[in-house]
Amino acid sequence: MTDIIQLLPDHVANQIAAGEVVQRPASVVKELLENAIDADASEIKLIIKDAGKTLVQVIDNGKGMSVTDARLSFERHATSKISSAEDLFSLHTKGFRGEALASIAAIAHVELKTKRPDDELGTALEIEGSDVKSQEVTVTPAGTSVAVKHLFFNIPARRNFLKSDTVELRHITDEFHRVALAHPNIAFAFYHNGSQLFDLPSENYRQRVVHIFGTKTNEKLVPVNEDTEVLKISGFVGKPEYSKKTRSEQFFFVNNRFVKSPYLNHAISAAFEGLLKDGYHPSYFLNLTVDPKSIDINIHPTKTEIKFDDEHTLYAILRSAVKHSLGQFNIAPVLDFEHQSNLNTPYNYKNKSAMAPAIEVDRGFNPFANDGTQHNKNQQSFKKAPSASWESLYVGLESKGNNTPQDFGEMTFESQAETKSIFNGDSALETKKTTFQLQQKYIVSTLKSGMLIIDQNRAHQRILYENFLRHITIKEATSQQLLFPLQLHFTPNETNIISQLKADLEHTGFVFYELSKKEVKITGVPVGVPESEVSIILEQLISDVENDVPDANFSSADLLSKSMAKSLAIKNGQALNSTEQEHIVDSLFACKEPNVSPTNRPTFITLGVDDIEKKFM
Ligand code: ADP
Ligand code: MG
Repeated sequence: MTDIIQLLPDHVANQIAAGEVVQRPASVVKELLENAIDADASEIKLIIKDAGKTLVQVIDNGKGMSVTDARLSFERHATSKISSAEDLFSLHTKGFRGEALASIAAIAHVELKTKRPDDELGTALEIEGSDVKSQEVTVTPAGTSVAVKHLFFNIPARRNFLKSDTVELRHITDEFHRVALAHPNIAFAFYHNGSQLFDLPSENYRQRVVHIFGTKTNEKLVPVNEDTEVLKISGFVGKPEYSKKTRSEQFFFVNNRFVKSPYLNHAISAAFEGLLKDGYHPSYFLNLTVDPKSIDINIHPTKTEIKFDDEHTLYAILRSAVKHSLGQFNIAPVLDFEHQSNLNTPYNYKNKSAMAPAIEVDRGFNPFANDGTQHNKNQQSFKKAPSASWESLYVGLESKGNNTPQDFGEMTFESQAETKSIFNGDSALETKKTTFQLQQKYIVSTLKSGMLIIDQNRAHQRILYENFLRHITIKEATSQQLLFPLQLHFTPNETNIISQLKADLEHTGFVFYELSKKEVKITGVPVGVPESEVSIILEQLISDVENDVPDANFSSADLLSKSMAKSLAIKNGQALNSTEQEHIVDSLFACKEPNVSPTNRPTFITLGVDDIEKKFM
């Protein structure tokens, strides 16, 4: 029998390695930017076309390469950054594996131009799928330009696997943010399909954060600084009231390298404890400096994961540093945020005064005098739910519900209606007052066969969603003119998203006076949308677009309607008067799909008399 083991040819080995290093255009962006930084460039230009599918080019003014180095740089395990295994433990550069260029050249067309500052002439190289096509002496500025074209040209399966341009561009932008944030002293420019998305001069860290995330970021940053023997921390956390529903503004850099660390993220969350609403994440832009010997970043091929020798200590230091900063800058609890949106709802006040007569009605509601009519049965089963037995319920009523005042406040409101209708004998009134609010979260209504419990937030989302969708499709909506144009600041990336949705937004009633790279001026908003909500709506929309994977069945009208419905819908915890409650019930059942919210969750449940009777057995 002949031997069967053979060595893989180099180009095959490179393609396999490429699978690890290059998942998508953004991986190329990362590798090329890091090489430019390692080459001590002070200015770096990133140029991409078609979200990197056609072209990713990085031009730097760094130290360049000699002819031999230029050739060698495309060999596997060719690196100038380590020469012994020992070096691995004290890395100060980004690269060290020496496989990025070799991998990229295996699966794309690469054009390299490079010149060292002291050389007269530079070198131009063309490589396609690991084959060197040409090598020439050339006139080129000092530094290096690497152009990667037609990524995955020889691996169609991979190419087909790429997502839409929007998604791939988002990945590239993420990489760009990470690299640009880690190196504020380096000037970066970023072009996509000929238009400039970023132009970042050499600047300080705060300026860099603000340049990338928009001028409005400035006021939300709280500096964090700590200097201990094992760990140095510098950077910023976002004030709690600016926390986001996404994790898109969470950045850890360890020794100037972006890393993901769920463990350290937890330390920050712990520092923010009690300051954030459920489902919100703090923003942070933190640089940690540790002894390179105490970390291992080599555990993942794309090098964003990290292992620390002494995690516990780092955790404790980080948490207390962030906590200290939040305390020092007098960060008030985030609750104000919620209040603000309630302030312009007058029924909030009505409800407050409605709490007063609660005592009177409570007295009237004596479980012992209960004659067991249908209504009272319903009532009782309802009240029974939160407490274990009706005795404890009775005690609760006597002491005016000190545990769940909201709960009982709402209940008494209803029993007041009940009592009235019973005494008046006015059946019309009885059928009218059939809703009440439970926990300021549910609208409860009686049905012939039992009762209906509606989730107020989801129901309202459904109503608004169908409304917006209708406006967008029939392209006619009424708009309300603003007295003064509303001027909002966004990053180029964000305004880009808004321009993509401009037509649909206009059909909902928005009027754009100006839509430039950094600024949006709005002169009209959809009827019923408070001016104060506009920036929240647009920010929510941007983050929804960024988080949605807008592929095949992507409909911008649908996404926009969902997002606006989410922003504008009545929240849980918002008190509603009976007219408002009834309006929601009626509008919900006038919807095409009343049963589910726009995100496909149930909007209501019913509880039949049978179910209720079972509970009494
Ligand atoms: P690594 O970065 O891990 O060393 P790469 O394949 O990314 O491996 O690069 C191989 C080598 O090519 C680098 O070690 C460096 O010497 C050289 N090189 C790559 N890009 C540049 C650049 N932009 N400027 C100067 N030298 C570069
Ligand atoms: Mg490299």
